[in-house]
Amino acid sequence: MSAYPKDLDQGWRRRLRSRVLRWYDQNGRKLPWRESADPYRIWVSEIMLQQTTVTAVVPYFERFIERFPDVRRLAEAEQGQVLRLWEGLGYYSRARNLHKAAGVIVRDLDGRFPEPADELKQLPGIGPYTAGAISSFAFNQPAAILEANTLRLYSRLIALDIDPRGTEGQKKLWKFAGWIVSRKRAADFNQAVMDIGSQVCRPVDPKCSTCPLMPSCKSFEEGRQSEIPLKNPKPQITDITEVSIAVRKGGRFLLRQHADNERWAGLWDFIRFEVSDTDVANVQMPERRRAKATATLSGQQSLFGDGGAESLSQLPPALSQRVTELTGAVVGSYEPITEIRHAVTRYRIRLLCLVCDHESGRLKQGTGYQWCSQSQLRELPLSTTGRRFATLLGSCK
Ligand code: SF4
Repeated sequence: MSAYPKDLDQGWRRRLRSRVLRWYDQNGRKLPWRESADPYRIWVSEIMLQQTTVTAVVPYFERFIERFPDVRRLAEAEQGQVLRLWEGLGYYSRARNLHKAAGVIVRDLDGRFPEPADELKQLPGIGPYTAGAISSFAFNQPAAILEANTLRLYSRLIALDIDPRGTEGQKKLWKFAGWIVSRKRAADFNQAVMDIGSQVCRPVDPKCSTCPLMPSCKSFEEGRQSEIPLKNPKPQITDITEVSIAVRKGGRFLLRQHADNERWAGLWDFIRFEVSDTDVANVQMPERRRAKATATLSGQQSLFGDGGAESLSQLPPALSQRVTELTGAVVGSYEPITEIRHAVTRYRIRLLCLVCDHESGRLKQGTGYQWCSQSQLRELPLSTTGRRFATLLGSCK
């Protein structure tokens, strides 16, 4: 098949464009980043929206813009300040690249965003979709865009019968996206197709009977809208167990910043490593509900305060040895704080959060571990689980 079905001609394209734009004029969504054509705001919002829902992004976007209202202010900031504002949004390489690209725009381009998508793609963290979005939304350039919603919508419109995420499928869809985008109202057109994809041409149960594009839709014509786009095989999920250990000395805790080549680069975290189920077979965790209600940091006293079941227990040798190997600190007993379940890429993680008092041992040089006060914990950018743990420790009230 060609970039678009052979029987789709200029007339088909003209009718489709006018249906899309008419729908947008009546139904376009009002979102904070649509209020202006400022490439900076569009760029920040598009980066935040990658892998994240609109509802989750709105408060982050507003806080971010308030703190860094333009590209120069972002370029001047420390990376840690940017990561702190990003905390909880995940995929932190997005924030690091945003900061890096701001530096390039200010230093090499006199603070101005390039208009063509091809030039925008040269900046750190700006892929083909984001380049097309900035180019079309900010500068009304007829640039192609393709993300989850338009991928589904376009696949159905042309009844794409190959995997839309494979190399060949991507090539065809990008070509189609460049062919179909309106030359005069590229910004409105691209916003509209994303909205129609998310609100009307939904992944399951598309609303074909009320769809403005139904008369142009090949999948609808062929009755194949539930089988297109072709599904990609589900990734294999692996279950793992990790421990996060807050080693305490006086009112301070041991943390380190993740290196550039590690998961959550730039963020800080307590000691954390993978363990076997045998290693933690005897670790007693409190019920999650109870831990949330009762765990507060109170000097050297038990976190559970009532002398109940979660009193001090000896840390399993495999865990205490690993803490010493990693940091040089010697710890003995632990208090269980909480258990967090979360997922990272293809891993489903059970994370056991424990507090241990430092008994002896000097910190090893070159490991990056540092004693951090509670006020530092409030300021430093932490991983999402690190922040939840720190909050239970009573450090982020
Ligand atoms: Fe999607 Fe149905 Fe509209 Fe086709 S007619 S674009 S399948 S909602």
